[in-house]
Amino acid sequence: MNQQKPIIIAQDIHKWYGKFHVLQGVSLTVNRGEVVVLMGPSGSGKSTFIRTFNALEEYQEGRIEIDGIDLTNDLKNIEAIRREVGMVFQQFNLFPHLTVLQNITLAPTWVRKWTKVKAEETAMQLLERVGILEQAQKYPGQLSGGQQQRVAIARALAMQPKVILFDEPTSALDPEMVREVLDVIKTLAADGMTMVVVTHEVGFAREAADRVILMDSGTIVEEATPSIFFQNPKHDRTRKFLSQIL
Ligand code: ADP
Ligand code: MG
Repeated sequence: MNQQKPIIIAQDIHKWYGKFHVLQGVSLTVNRGEVVVLMGPSGSGKSTFIRTFNALEEYQEGRIEIDGIDLTNDLKNIEAIRREVGMVFQQFNLFPHLTVLQNITLAPTWVRKWTKVKAEETAMQLLERVGILEQAQKYPGQLSGGQQQRVAIARALAMQPKVILFDEPTSALDPEMVREVLDVIKTLAADGMTMVVVTHEVGFAREAADRVILMDSGTIVEEATPSIFFQNPKHDRTRKFLSQIL
């Protein structure tokens, strides 16, 4: 695969929920190794937009390409793309009846056809990487929110994705757990993982993002480096938004 080719190309995406025009021509290109932070008021279309990248949401107009694969309605392409795009949700979405280890090995054994031994070895390495190796045999309900989210990150990493999408990964956490999860995401960024992160954590965006984007009412209002975005944005809408979150 061409190393220079962007991992995500989304061009002029339009989506309607009935008559409601939720995505009004949104475009985004994410290059290999880039970390893009997406901000914007609740209801502006952030989740809907990133969920189009792995076909969790349909769209009516525009074009999406993930690592050179066209996201068309061809089921083969959708399956290929879902293998390459990891996703971490606000509510963790772990399987409650499976142990931490089983949560992580499930997709690699079914989708990647790894042996149980290989999947478990990889899972244990990932649990060590996210700092919860000792929790491997527990069930999600026995863990704190921060630990559950770290399991969800390990589960996404286990598929060796080309890109990981994070949808407000710390919004459901108690304040004292936000940091441990952001620290894990920052290490991934430092290791060169390509990521799109929907978050309002300004400290994280300043430290880890290559670009920060403001979405409002289904459009991209501003797109800039963190220093420009937070100190000298072009648009009044961005200044207004920042005054609400800073
Ligand atoms: P954000 O993630 O920025 O908060 P969302 O992408 O979740 O925004 O939602 C954007 C808008 O689309 C909101 O107004 C929401 O109410 C609406 N919406 C989301 N999902 C649906 C749905 N399944 N049907 C109808 N409207 C929806
Ligand atoms: Mg959302």
